[in-house]
Amino acid sequence: MFNKILIANRGEIALRVIRACREMGIGSVAVHSTADADAMHVRMADEAICIGPAPSSASYLHVPAIISACEISGAEAIHPGYGFLSENAAFVQVVEDHGITFIGPSAEHIRMMGDKITAKDTMKALGVPCVPGSAGGVAHYDTARTVAAEIGYPVIIKATAGGGGRGMKLARAESELETAFRTARSEAKAAFGNDEVYIEKYLGQPRHIEIQVFGDGNGNAVHLGERDCSLQRRHQKVLEEAPGPVIDAETRARIGQTCAEAVARIGYRGAGTIEFLFENGEFYFIEMNTRLQVEHPVTEAIFGVDLVREQIRVAAGHPLSFTQDELQVNGHAIEVRINAEKLPNFTPCPGRVATYHAPGGLGVRMDSALYSGYTIPPYYDSLIAKLIVHGRDRPEALARLNRALGELIIDGVDSSVPLFRALLAEPDVLTGNYDIHWLEKFLAQPQDL
Ligand code: ADP
Repeated sequence: MFNKILIANRGEIALRVIRACREMGIGSVAVHSTADADAMHVRMADEAICIGPAPSSASYLHVPAIISACEISGAEAIHPGYGFLSENAAFVQVVEDHGITFIGPSAEHIRMMGDKITAKDTMKALGVPCVPGSAGGVAHYDTARTVAAEIGYPVIIKATAGGGGRGMKLARAESELETAFRTARSEAKAAFGNDEVYIEKYLGQPRHIEIQVFGDGNGNAVHLGERDCSLQRRHQKVLEEAPGPVIDAETRARIGQTCAEAVARIGYRGAGTIEFLFENGEFYFIEMNTRLQVEHPVTEAIFGVDLVREQIRVAAGHPLSFTQDELQVNGHAIEVRINAEKLPNFTPCPGRVATYHAPGGLGVRMDSALYSGYTIPPYYDSLIAKLIVHGRDRPEALARLNRALGELIIDGVDSSVPLFRALLAEPDVLTGNYDIHWLEKFLAQPQDL
């Protein structure tokens, strides 16, 4: 096992990894920008190294500084968290070339899944159901027109290098196709430096269901069921739950097994998430994330496992610590993502947190790097806390969420907490009756947030 791990991240996810390290008796090294000198991850880690100025490009994304921090501290492995360098195959290559272990999949698998067309082709060949669409990239408008006519409208144009919901354009009819095609390409070029796009059938009312998988890198893999992340704003998840309100045990076992077999066959190592749109009882693969997800705690809650501990164990060459049969769903968990944002427009709202008080009690987990007197810097993601509740069933989890939100105090900055209070009064949320467009429609109505 490793003696020391460097965490190439900040905020709540850095704390999450430090906690796993401490329980495993592994030393932790935090890295931070000058803007994060007072951050909680710096205080909580065994050691901390400043790697550069505030902008991420000069610190959390600055590979030479991170490698130097490993060499100075003697860390043998790097945990990338999510975001930043977590899905950067070139970074993984540099890490490995320096004899440091990357806690995550191989550079090859990250590259394979980072290119959406290759990912889709691979999954299709492995028997994973996919959204009907173009075979590979579409370079010319004429081809786009032929392909779209074949699949049938509406269609969605997506960037091969896409991420974060950018570079996606909807065409409801042929009259909208040319503009959608050209805009998607130019947005993709601007955002990702790659203008390749592909075309998919647009699903009208799907849910977002994702399967958590875990591979040992030696051809063994398990699944840890699904998460329903359908409540989204601008393609960003806002609330996630497990198990999915509309997925039964038989469906879970079937899609879970398909996903576990797929990653086993490619020799995948570590945690991964296979994302699907789910409509009329059918799953349609959209992408695979080769890292820990923000919403992993809901899975941890219902399966009673520590996914970060497992990532570290597998990276150190240990076998998986659970079998598929041992993984049984227990109860229901819900996570809400609390951002430093001013409602109703969701404008980022960094600043000083005068008072912070986290909720507690049975079935409540608060993953946050906040503390009273902390100043949220303006340079990074606006996620400031994840509140995760676990109950024996969905109604109990909802009641617990309501109770926990009532205990939470974040004074001094605006947050998205009022949105969750409003959602908990919505019959559709209480019954789990929502698709990926529900939240946008809700927010388009006048709301008292
Ligand atoms: P990204 O990597 O940019 O997040 P995804 O492929 O994961 O892109 O898609 C993000 C979101 O876009 C999905 O969660 C869904 O809301 C929407 N979306 C993607 N593909 C389709 C599709 N074929 N039909 C309808 N909505 C889609």
